[in-house]
Amino acid sequence: MLIGITGTPGTGKTSVTKLLEKDYMYQVIHLNELIKEEKLYSEVDTERDCVVADMDMVYNRVLELQDISYPVTIIDSHLSHHIADIVIVLRTSPAKLKERLEKRKYSVEKVRENLEAEALDIILAEAVDWCEKVFELDTTEGNVERTVKDIGKIIMGIRMGDTNELENRYRPGTVDWSEFFGD
Ligand code: ADP
Ligand code: MN
Repeated sequence: MLIGITGTPGTGKTSVTKLLEKDYMYQVIHLNELIKEEKLYSEVDTERDCVVADMDMVYNRVLELQDISYPVTIIDSHLSHHIADIVIVLRTSPAKLKERLEKRKYSVEKVRENLEAEALDIILAEAVDWCEKVFELDTTEGNVERTVKDIGKIIMGIRMGDTNELENRYRPGTVDWSEFFGD
């Protein structure tokens, strides 16, 4: 079973999946690293300091790497909702996300771009359009362990085929960053 952990950069995908991969149940693919290591991209965007992934190549490579001896393969990437049908979208309030991104070597422009994407629910909206099941999880407060626990519960529910209550609790649209724009 393929499950994506997606969300704007800084929402916590890599931190939580680094913990999840210690569990024998989960194979984790850190997709952004794989894309760079194996050059699974079609273009290098020097202006925006990023690469444009070739999603056909990426998808085929993920299927090759998927090890079915694990009950669950988790994909860590802001692109994982392009690939998986079941995704968990991590969300962080723009104010908190700003703090996290400013600690990175991101340019002012790149920070601004990501804050705007988060405030406008871009990844959530794409996930809802493209995926079968979408869970939205707020990572503004709490800590990585707390988020890992919540994700563990969601994945357990999916494996048991019992997601009604979880789909309600983590329903897309539960978080709302509209106050970020002021009035
Ligand atoms: P991403 O991979 O989505 O870009 P990272 O995991 O690299 O995000 O960074 C997220 C940062 O936010 C980490 O420094 C992490 O410790 C911090 N953080 C704080 N609270 C949480 C939380 N509840 N869940 C996940 N990460 C959190
Ligand atoms: Mn990451």
